[in-house]
Amino acid sequence: MGLVKEAITKPWVLERQLGELRSELLAEGFRDYVARQVFQWVYRKNSQEPSSWSNIAKAGREKLAGLYDWSPRPVLQVQGGAREARKFLFLLGDGQKIEAVLIREKDHYTFCLSSQAGCPLACAFCATGAMGFRRDLTAGEIVSQVLALKKELGEYSGRLNLVFMGMGEPLLNYNNLARALRVITEPDGLNISPRHVTVSTAGILENLAELERDFPQVKIAFSLNAPDPQLRAELMPVSRKHSLDDLLAYFRGHKRRQRITFEYVLLAGINDSPAQARQVARLLHGIPAKINLIPYNANPGMPFKRPDEGAVERFRSILLERGLTAVTRWSKGQETRSACGQLAVGGFSC
Ligand code: SF4
Repeated sequence: MGLVKEAITKPWVLERQLGELRSELLAEGFRDYVARQVFQWVYRKNSQEPSSWSNIAKAGREKLAGLYDWSPRPVLQVQGGAREARKFLFLLGDGQKIEAVLIREKDHYTFCLSSQAGCPLACAFCATGAMGFRRDLTAGEIVSQVLALKKELGEYSGRLNLVFMGMGEPLLNYNNLARALRVITEPDGLNISPRHVTVSTAGILENLAELERDFPQVKIAFSLNAPDPQLRAELMPVSRKHSLDDLLAYFRGHKRRQRITFEYVLLAGINDSPAQARQVARLLHGIPAKINLIPYNANPGMPFKRPDEGAVERFRSILLERGLTAVTRWSKGQETRSACGQLAVGGFSC
């Protein structure tokens, strides 16, 4: 039975990988190359209007329009100026809401993307964790975020960096993440180099290995946040299941082309002392690493404070003196609650 006849709700094309779309369109009588043309319109040219696809015959365009739902998930609101960080609120098909952030850098743009609505890992300093877990995002819902943020950039064709550091733990939603990554990196799809994609994880060991096997060029960022296992487990309960020792042994034991980025949210009086900086340096000895120090971005009702600049610089100097690469990331977009650890569908008026 054809797709038109069986579908009351049409299948959503953004859930399809290129090979799947090709098989379905072949079954509907289209030529082999049409799926590639469709992918190029939908992703490369960011056009989801079959009626405007000039290299496909009119009858084919009309048939395609009836086969699928072509619309990305809608953006409900946008906050923030074009100069630094803009936060986008998306409405999903079942009423859930998620956020993504467009960050303007010196020579490129970064898209900070969500992989889940909420997050089950409940890190003590994170607004997303505090909202609890709603559900995993589908591949189409992940890809929708990229299309909407790209649309915002108009004709811009320079470098894009995609970071999965928005809402959720991407490796707890590995299958949908992998499906989205295939569309993102597909030359006829979004055509973004996997070297410009970073997946950030709190450390879901088994899926980390799978990600590195399936996408060896994708960069890994690991949320360290404390050098001693007990403090880390207090800040990040996931650490009780996936121990720091096991994760560091994994990072030491695998040769890879790229350094691992270790993210460290600096919390005043909790994990920002010189002794803890020395401990971090010892811990990462022998691992090709880069450390991103992220001074905490305040969340209402949470008992943490951002360290002053002196404490941040002291921490960084200790790492540098020990031969590590360490960069301080003062997050953009705090005023719109778009910064690291602040995404919780908050700050919008709906
Ligand atoms: S920091 Fe990341 S893993 Fe932890 S609760 Fe927030 S979104 Fe989840």
